[in-house]
Amino acid sequence: MMQGMMMHRPLLISDILEFAASAYSEQEIISRRVEGDIHRATYAQTRGRVSQLSHALVELGVGPSDRVATLAWNGYRHFELYYGVSGMGAVCHTINPRLPAEQIEYIISHAEDTILFLEFTFVDMIEKLKDRLPSNLRYVVMTDEAHMPSSTTLSPLCYETLLEGHPTTFDWPELDENTAASLCYTSGTTGNPKGALYSHRSTVLHAMSAALSFMNALGEGRKILPAVPLFHVNAWGLPYTCPLVGASLVMPGPGLDGDSLFELMDAESVYSMWGVPTVFQGLLATIQEKGRAPDGFCDAVIGGSAVTQSLIDAYRENGVEICHAWGMTELSPLGTQGNLPAGMASGPKAECDAFKLTQGRRLFSVQMKLVDDNGAAVAHDGVSPGELYVRGNSTISQYYQNDAATASAIDADGWFGTGDVATLDARGCLTITDRAKDLIKSGGEWISSLDIENIAMSHPDVRQCAVIAVPHEKWGERPLLIVVPEAESTADLAGILALIGKHVSSWQVPDDIVLTDRLPLAPTGKISKKDLREIYADYVLPQ
Ligand code: ADP
Repeated sequence: MMQGMMMHRPLLISDILEFAASAYSEQEIISRRVEGDIHRATYAQTRGRVSQLSHALVELGVGPSDRVATLAWNGYRHFELYYGVSGMGAVCHTINPRLPAEQIEYIISHAEDTILFLEFTFVDMIEKLKDRLPSNLRYVVMTDEAHMPSSTTLSPLCYETLLEGHPTTFDWPELDENTAASLCYTSGTTGNPKGALYSHRSTVLHAMSAALSFMNALGEGRKILPAVPLFHVNAWGLPYTCPLVGASLVMPGPGLDGDSLFELMDAESVYSMWGVPTVFQGLLATIQEKGRAPDGFCDAVIGGSAVTQSLIDAYRENGVEICHAWGMTELSPLGTQGNLPAGMASGPKAECDAFKLTQGRRLFSVQMKLVDDNGAAVAHDGVSPGELYVRGNSTISQYYQNDAATASAIDADGWFGTGDVATLDARGCLTITDRAKDLIKSGGEWISSLDIENIAMSHPDVRQCAVIAVPHEKWGERPLLIVVPEAESTADLAGILALIGKHVSSWQVPDDIVLTDRLPLAPTGKISKKDLREIYADYVLPQ
């Protein structure tokens, strides 16, 4: 085979920063700090601080491939750590502070972190855990001297003091592009959390694919707000994609409630916000209260859980178009985008609405296949469900030091099993119909909990809901609908069931509805089906 005669330059994260600092030097990272004020820095200024940070890391003795952990909100210092740690050849390990203490302890030990950078808001939490963490772990509080905690047993260093006096340029090492760059543990809905270890190459390619597929949202000069945390799958890659396309980042800090988001978005004219449905529900309440969307807000990318028709409609009424996205930690994470195919928008509204509820089409380099219970290929006919398997340049080939989890996730041909059940149509449009771990199989037939949740959510008495399987003597499993009502006293249970009955077969209608005042959330903000299944494990369905 004749070889091409082109240069081979490694794909490196440090190149994204260098590129943004020169090509888009005036674009900004605007952060609501935990200290309370708003901080602004251009990409050019940020390159200077990132360089200082990398020098400081070298001085602290951080070497190639050392794991440097972060426990932080979305803010400029966290962004600096993304680039400063990975750029000099170490691994940026983002930790989800919402995880239970035992899981935080587990992943710090499993990752063998050497330094933990943390916001002062997490100092108390880590102090309580300190005796169970590795004794050689060092701590840096991500603030200035004025805000350093006065008394703590962590003996931490101060982030701003660490940076002081270092040069504002860094001679980035020319790493092999397959060098590990960052590490993120999945929130572990089953068993211990599992680590996805991203490389420089996988990260750059993911950012490039995302930039292409989300062109509607991203663009030079636009302001993008990641409501999805930087500790959750690298905020879906936005800290890499935004500098790559010249978009500014608006970082909300810990303020993810509707009022805080509205205020920040309004002040900064944020064009697009990305996050899970729960955060958008909160923002919607503020929008409805004020009778308008934040200034300049036009575009929303929602993933992590299925988007409902009612959420799409409510945002559209306020001038905001929702793009549905599907992904997984193991995919870096973006797998699909739900923008309408060219020409569809001018066609029938019903067709557009139906398409918007699907998870959309794949990103470049994400390949998909469906497999049945026996491992046989399932047709991409838009109706036959199968378990979704994926491969691509930004998909894990194995979990970090976890052979058992790898063995159960990667098939003989090297594809990654997502645990999601889906259909694919001829043009590759993905519809998640259920999760393998969350499937309701009644009398040998599938019931889609997502379908039923979508329908139930369109009933005016339903604020939030979830469908879970409960064991049934005759049918194996039957669906139970758990509802957070708008008002308990007036919730029309028979009406909700009748509405569902209009859209699905009679045997697919939930056997019962229970009302509750809140649904348990997993650390990522999604409804925790695992907890619900435990709570209602002994629930007795009506005969
Ligand atoms: P993230 O929450 O960032 O998508 P996780 O790895 O925590 O990543 O969760 C991935 C899982 O979340 C998927 O396997 C799928 O079950 C579910 N999920 C993600 N996006 C969607 C979506 N748009 N619709 C339905 N389920 C989704």
